[in-house]
Amino acid sequence: MAPHAIRIIGDPVLKQKAAEVTRVDGALAKLIDDMFVTMYDAPGVGLAAPQVGVQQRFFVYDYDDEPGVILNPVIVESRGEFEFVEGCLSVPGLSWEIVRPAEIHVKGYDLDGNELDLELDDYPARVFQHEIDHLEGVLLVEHLTEEQRREARKALRELRLRNAGPLPEPEVAGRGLRLP
Ligand code: ZN
Repeated sequence: MAPHAIRIIGDPVLKQKAAEVTRVDGALAKLIDDMFVTMYDAPGVGLAAPQVGVQQRFFVYDYDDEPGVILNPVIVESRGEFEFVEGCLSVPGLSWEIVRPAEIHVKGYDLDGNELDLELDDYPARVFQHEIDHLEGVLLVEHLTEEQRREARKALRELRLRNAGPLPEPEVAGRGLRLP
């Protein structure tokens, strides 16, 4: 049994912007350990704090057997375009082809307070962009094209009934990159 239940689309916590981490203590370290267990149990390659109901800016990840955590991540630069089939533990069972920048330059901090300065591309860049979106209260459904969104409404109906939450609408029309 995973330590945390992963919040599912419709849960308002997933739409809130998370606050900066200002304090690293034993409670945070324990939470992070539990988030790794929850992520591996799912299984997934990334899990952001809001997905377990914690409004703080950090996420855990492991896409190449090198587990990591980044606090207060910021994308300082992004380049290119990359289309990739993307899913989310908070939108279980569904995935869509989504275009995002191919390369990103990310800054943040590790648990010891050291600054992280990362150049990422392809899959790692995708994972980081997805998780950083969670810290902004943005789910992947907000990156869908109009056509994908119409199909998503049908697919999400079952989830919506199960979770009794509202179907999320994009905050801003055309947010993110448009498909051609
Ligand atoms: Zn996600």
